[in-house]
Amino acid sequence: MSKGLLIVVSGPSGTGKGTVCAELLSQTPELAYSISATTRQPRDGEVDGRNYYFLDREKFEQLIADGGFLEYANVYGNYYGTPLGKIEERRAAGQDILLEIDTQGALNVMEKCPDGLFIFLLPPSLPELERRIRGRGSETPESLARRLGAAKQEIEIGRRYTYVVINDTVRQAVSRIKSIMVAEHCRIDKEEVIAEVLNNENE
Ligand code: 5GP
Repeated sequence: MSKGLLIVVSGPSGTGKGTVCAELLSQTPELAYSISATTRQPRDGEVDGRNYYFLDREKFEQLIADGGFLEYANVYGNYYGTPLGKIEERRAAGQDILLEIDTQGALNVMEKCPDGLFIFLLPPSLPELERRIRGRGSETPESLARRLGAAKQEIEIGRRYTYVVINDTVRQAVSRIKSIMVAEHCRIDKEEVIAEVLNNENE
């Protein structure tokens, strides 16, 4: 049994990483999504235990103290964290796991899990990112400017990721990530595959 991939996807707000991850998961039933915990309020339609584990600050801080997170970060004033949730045991059993987390969290995972696969999603251009954020209709001019400024800084951090994938269309971005997963499995499994072929001389 070969080890499962730990796939970490990040990208600036407005890049569409939520949509890309949802489509990737629907096309890849063998991929498990790591449900994060957060202290932010649920949005309309979000379900506890499916989108996030919604915790109060006290409970979240208790979990930090108990060492219950692979990583956590403070994003826009709220805590977000990846529960340890037997990630390494599940990988050892061959399970591929997807984390959709911010860049601060991803940098921490790079330290703890250097064999992770770090994928940074990029918008096709900064004007397109601005159009996408405006399209949500939820930003004031100040918050739009803040998000765009933060996006430029985050894009620099993208250099530290294993792969950069442009989200021009969701279909193409998902197809690129699936190709990366296939390639990474071939790379990780190579020793095992060679040993298997050499050990099976008689069919
Ligand atoms: P939102 O509130 O829009 O769902 O997420 C805000 C940001 O938090 C996004 O950039 C998302 O990727 C990030 N995020 C979600 N879950 C986690 C997590 O477990 N850890 C970290 N570090 N960031 C997370």
